[in-house]
Amino acid sequence: MSTTFCPTCMKDVVVRVEERRESVPVRGEAVEVPARVAVCPACGEDVWLDEFEDETLARAYAEYRLRHHLLQPPEMTRIRTRWGLGQRAFSLLLGWGEITLHRYESGSLQDAAHDAQLRMAERAENIRILLDSNGDRLTPRQRAAVERPLFEAERAEGVRACEDEELERLLTRDSTGAYSGDVPVSLAKVREMIVFFCEAPNVFVTKLAKLMFYADFLHCKVSTISITGLAYAHLPHGPVPEHYERLRADVLENALVRIEERLGDDWAGEVLIAERAPNLDVFSAGELQVLGCVRVELGSLSSKTVSDRSHSETAYTCTAMGERIPYAAARELSLTMPRQS
Ligand SMILES: [Zn+2]
Repeated sequence: MSTTFCPTCMKDVVVRVEERRESVPVRGEAVEVPARVAVCPACGEDVWLDEFEDETLARAYAEYRLRHHLLQPPEMTRIRTRWGLGQRAFSLLLGWGEITLHRYESGSLQDAAHDAQLRMAERAENIRILLDSNGDRLTPRQRAAVERPLFEAERAEGVRACEDEELERLLTRDSTGAYSGDVPVSLAKVREMIVFFCEAPNVFVTKLAKLMFYADFLHCKVSTISITGLAYAHLPHGPVPEHYERLRADVLENALVRIEERLGDDWAGEVLIAERAPNLDVFSAGELQVLGCVRVELGSLSSKTVSDRSHSETAYTCTAMGERIPYAAARELSLTMPRQS
């Protein structure tokens, strides 16, 4: 033990360390914890030692969190790192100040409202909501870092379908300006497009996303606007509509399609099968031509072939993981409409 100044003896002394239980006031509550205390051997008075005081306070906070069912700092770190973000970025995503989470993870006592928010941030669907409202506080790179684990988690959690209005609002929020193909989101067109493509055999969930992408982007290429108004994101297996898991849940819930598990030697996948004929009245003649073209050109190809092709599109190569894909890239789409005879 190093020497410390004793204000009673007015000199540096080598303190003695005692173990006792101390009562520490935390938010007006007396919390009793074991504490190490430095004692002056000459006068027998307690001597202030920063190191011991910090240790005792940390123990008192930990005990207080336990009593009030608050997260301990390592649990907060675990929640944050699950979503691939640093302290500052995750703090901003939560709508907090830049250093709030840093303080909490370093041992400051969190307030109950922040604690509740952090617990909710364990669930993918809540991270999705936070991204929708605070995503613009993150850099594209940070957004991309979240998207990957989020996409996986949404699959694992089995995101539930939501009401039409809520779904439309969610889709519209992510689909603005350059990312919507200049038309408002049409849930009716989204659903009928899915049914249309799922009439064909062997439409795996991953392939459907690509067919939708090609339909919207091809229509944009020939007419400058998309069909559905959906935004697409650059994800590991190619372009995927934003909130794709929720769309999948929606068409299942509304019994537009059913799912069949397919097992291969070394793979497993979900095939979507239409439960009724599509209502083509929601589409214009030009949209129907594009849908027909995509189904003829890509409908019979394997998921892998379609996925590989989508990876080579400018729309994909000009964007980074997790980023939304601008419809301007539709001009360079490899797919073209057959010449009218
Ligand atoms: Zn002393």
